[in-house]
Amino acid sequence: MDYCFGVDIGGTSIKMGFFSRREGLVKKWEIPTRKGSEPTLLLQDISEAIELCLLEKSMHKDEIAGIGLTAPGPVTDNGLLRGTVNIGWGDVFLGEEAERMIGIRPVFIGNDARVAAFGEFIFGAGKEVNSLLMLTLGTGVGGGVILNGQILAGKTGTAGEIGHMTINPFETLSCSCGKKGCLEQYASATGMVRVAKSFLDETDKPSSLRKLEKVTAKDLWDEAKNGDELALKITMYVSRLLGMAVANACYIVDPEMVVIGGGVSQAGQFLLEMIQKEYATNVFPHCRDKKFALAELRNDAGIYGAAAMVFQK
Ligand SMILES: [Zn+2]
Repeated sequence: MDYCFGVDIGGTSIKMGFFSRREGLVKKWEIPTRKGSEPTLLLQDISEAIELCLLEKSMHKDEIAGIGLTAPGPVTDNGLLRGTVNIGWGDVFLGEEAERMIGIRPVFIGNDARVAAFGEFIFGAGKEVNSLLMLTLGTGVGGGVILNGQILAGKTGTAGEIGHMTINPFETLSCSCGKKGCLEQYASATGMVRVAKSFLDETDKPSSLRKLEKVTAKDLWDEAKNGDELALKITMYVSRLLGMAVANACYIVDPEMVVIGGGVSQAGQFLLEMIQKEYATNVFPHCRDKKFALAELRNDAGIYGAAAMVFQK
């Protein structure tokens, strides 16, 4: 069978993709995320969206090879989704529920950041390599490891959760996960803004950032690129933590490539080179020339990765 659906469940919207083995992404659209204590209504919405798409294409469910689903929570290697704080569910075997409600099988499920890494691995920046580590710098910091052509999920679904690697044991503020000193507290878009604020408060050094009513992560990187000294100092600090975290992760998985994605990665080559430089100072000399690349699929990495889970089986 040559068709499948890739579905990326986010906190506010669900990205839907209809894929053909030969042509790739045929159609993509979005539906709103219905929150609740159980996934029933949300799966109903996905089911209706799929049925409408099949009607439009004059196709039947039995012509579909399967569905790939992402979820914003840890997924164990036997398919158990361990609670999604953003949406409100407890532990659930979401793939099995989806198979029952949608009437298409098999349904594969994975954590959103891990599946996005898989999307980049099969269709994007990592097409030519055999293993990769991806960091998604957005509202949070997501991570994913692909080893031997497979998503590394782990016994409890925690493998690849680099955003919650403790990078500062002396932090007094709590991360969204409840822990203190996670990478995400400094290197997510919100974390970068927080770091920028504390740098700006610490000194009266002039900076173009002071002229802005509200500093965003994009402003920070734009001003650093424009040569603003303080902005550059802040981005160097953030890159140092990112480079260290990537180096620490590489001591365990040593992938062929490191991919940086998420909204903040739009800062481009400038950001990539800064992280790479800090990575290189924290690893053995013989691992310094690891490939670093920017993600290529942007917001579609999730649906591509979800489709790849189906087509690869
Ligand atoms: Zn955390």
